[in-house]
Amino acid sequence: MDITNADQYLLSVFQKTGALLEGHFQLTSGLHSPRYLQCALVLQYPEHAEWVGKMLAAHFNNDQISAVVAPAIGGIIVAHETARALGVRALFTERQGDVMTLRRGFRIDEAEKVLVVEDVVTTGGSTRETIDAVTCAGGVVIGAGSMVDRSGGAVDVGVRRVALLTLDVPAYDPADCPLCKQGTPVIKPGSRKQ
Ligand SMILES: [Zn+2]
Repeated sequence: MDITNADQYLLSVFQKTGALLEGHFQLTSGLHSPRYLQCALVLQYPEHAEWVGKMLAAHFNNDQISAVVAPAIGGIIVAHETARALGVRALFTERQGDVMTLRRGFRIDEAEKVLVVEDVVTTGGSTRETIDAVTCAGGVVIGAGSMVDRSGGAVDVGVRRVALLTLDVPAYDPADCPLCKQGTPVIKPGSRKQ
């Protein structure tokens, strides 16, 4: 697979697996959107997950990364497959109260070079929180990767960022959401309890 055609290929995989949903959705960030990308429907196929990991890893092959860290739950498989492709460890952070932390005995060495990945970037909030958790643990975050960037490339997380598929999908504050104004019921497909 040519890395330059990764976006078109991944979009076709989202369509083929029914992972690109149309309607009225509340995202993990709290914003509302007419489109939702259910990455788990792509990642349920190990061959697609493996491909995602290889494609993300290819951007960081020369960065001496020794661990990949993702926010649970959505990022875990992405981290696992990216780490497999790089031949390094895969860790994940979890929310403890309001704070994203490394639990389960996960450790980062002092100055260890880390890649942070997740499934979808919308506001970059989860990626930034994971970067903070890694930095607090002593690691140095070299870059951030995601399957999809639905901000149209607008999000800045303070490190080099790569997305396999960049889409400009509208995301509305609930107070200004045209779908809410139409009275369409909102669906919360994400994993985090609101
Ligand atoms: Zn709405």
